[in-house]
Amino acid sequence: MNHNFGHRRWVGKLSALAVGLLLSQSLPVLAQSDEEKVPYSKFIEYVETGQLKTVKIYEKQKIAEFKLKKQPDEEAFSKVVLFDKNPELYGLLRDKKVDFEQVPDPGENPLLGILTQFFFIIVIIFLFLVFLRRTAGSNSGPGQILNFGKSKARFQMESETGVTFVDVAGIEEAKEELQEVVTFLKQPERFTAVGARIPRGVLLIGPPGTGKTLLAKAISGEAGVPFFSISGSEFVEMFVGVGASRVRDLFKKAKENAPCLVFIDEIDAVGRQRGAGIGGGNDEREQTLNQLLTEMDGFEGNTGIIIIAATNRPDILDSALLRPGRFDRQVTVDLPAFEGRLGILEVHSREKKIASQVSLEAIARRTPGFSGAALANLLNEAAILTARRRKDAITDLEVDDAIDRITIGLAMAPHVDSKKKWLIAYHEVGHALLATLLKDADPLNKVTILPRSGGVGGFSQPTYNEERVDSGLYTRAWLLDQITIFLGGRAAEVEVFGDAEVTAGASGDIEQVANLTRQMVTQLGMSDLGYVALEKGNGGDVFLGGEWGNRAEYSQEMAVQIDRQVREIVMYCYETARRMLRENRSLVDRLVEVLLERETIDGEEFRQIVIEYGQTVDKKPVLPEPLPSLPLLS
Ligand code: ADP
Ligand code: MG
Ligand code: ZN
Repeated sequence: MNHNFGHRRWVGKLSALAVGLLLSQSLPVLAQSDEEKVPYSKFIEYVETGQLKTVKIYEKQKIAEFKLKKQPDEEAFSKVVLFDKNPELYGLLRDKKVDFEQVPDPGENPLLGILTQFFFIIVIIFLFLVFLRRTAGSNSGPGQILNFGKSKARFQMESETGVTFVDVAGIEEAKEELQEVVTFLKQPERFTAVGARIPRGVLLIGPPGTGKTLLAKAISGEAGVPFFSISGSEFVEMFVGVGASRVRDLFKKAKENAPCLVFIDEIDAVGRQRGAGIGGGNDEREQTLNQLLTEMDGFEGNTGIIIIAATNRPDILDSALLRPGRFDRQVTVDLPAFEGRLGILEVHSREKKIASQVSLEAIARRTPGFSGAALANLLNEAAILTARRRKDAITDLEVDDAIDRITIGLAMAPHVDSKKKWLIAYHEVGHALLATLLKDADPLNKVTILPRSGGVGGFSQPTYNEERVDSGLYTRAWLLDQITIFLGGRAAEVEVFGDAEVTAGASGDIEQVANLTRQMVTQLGMSDLGYVALEKGNGGDVFLGGEWGNRAEYSQEMAVQIDRQVREIVMYCYETARRMLRENRSLVDRLVEVLLERETIDGEEFRQIVIEYGQTVDKKPVLPEPLPSLPLLS
């Protein structure tokens, strides 16, 4: 932003200059003397009586300067103001043989005119370029406008990345595969001596934040070679041919610095399947891709350049990129599993002060689905919270809050006291109480009415049940309890405020209920329809090569039955929720009172209140002890 502001000032100065120039043109040049002016009639009289010696006529300013014959040479000229149109004057002067001279207007000075025009053209071009630059995006560095196409600064070169394999955790297989690339960069002769063809390109495939960029940097760090990087999206520019010239530049520099590593991030931006563009082709991208392919074919394996590209969309890449001799080596970098998450947490906790009772293993268990970047972010958020709270070391509390922040959203200012706050409190207590009372559900971790970014008014959160996740025991009873808990929010609203007052706040819950119930009926064989898999799990994102929706493999009649089953399950759970909340109405009111006052209640405290009202909070164990003896099947 800053450099943009600087530009605007520059432009301002230039236009001030231009205006100054304009003004100076219209100033009369002959303002030298304040000499008394002669009336026009007098002047004509002088002409007619032949007294004039010489006249200078300033057409533009409508002024004439003259000298009479009787005046001595050194005396100043007299002045007269002329009328607008006086062609007869010239005739008269000619008749009387007066020596006259027309002084051209300074603005009509031909040289000056050309100069001014030239100047304005330059100003306009300059403004145009500034405009172009702005449109091209504010992230382009300064000083690029005059050499677009040459794009010296579009790729980065780091002679030392300072990253090694020690900094990369949790993706051991990928590291092992790439160890070979390191060896090649360090000792290519080991390969060439035995005639091995060296891989030219390696494609790293994986979701964002899994450490692809980090891995590429680590390879160059391990091998001690320079690291060139560019992002695919930077190839694709407004002007056709710019991308191709950037590719040429990049490879030229790389060859000069071999052995080295070239990293192309987001290669899908440029390497998309050609000719398959929806809404017409993209000449620029195709040219860039062709240039890239040409460059890759152009150098032999032993020039010492390894190209590593990264993408999370391998399915859309042009098949030409994946041919042998190009990115023929493909390494998948997946979201880390438990061990991987633990490793990544260990790497990122090295430079952080963490209280001894905090268990990285516990954090790793609680964060399935987190990428390496998300885990790094988690520890950083926790450290920031710790500093803000003026503590010496990160404790479980900060880790907890940081996880909420990442998974649910930023904490926002509390609700103002209003009916809305009441409604939210009843809604959340509805979820939380059912989670506490239902025997097959996981216990409550906390319930809060502190809002979060993204329109979250509050939430009620179960504890992370390690045993359940490890064993994968998601029983029918557990699923039904889950659905009942999801419906508990809406049920509480209806119970307390009546049908007419329910809000849209439960739409997320209802969607979850629909998903879970449908899965139970059509995929898990948990309804009266029996043990049939009627639908397949969604084959993935349509845009990731998945199929359009689920293919229905049942008759119309079956569809009606499925709907009826879904409805039955939902109604059953909803009635259960309504009944339980009705039977515990005074407890619900008490919990809401506490929640409104304190805004957050943690699980332990919540259960305490529930017990005071004479209810039990025990749960059925996930794995029954002792294990029932199973009949042997033969
Ligand atoms: P990607 O390129 O796959 O989107 P990055 O390499 O840019 O992901 O990862 C972003 C940051 O997340 C890294 O700088 C690093 O701090 C952290 N990170 C990601 N994956 C890992 C990992 N496997 N080990 C250690 N840190 C990681
Ligand atoms: Mg990256
Ligand atoms: Zn809800």
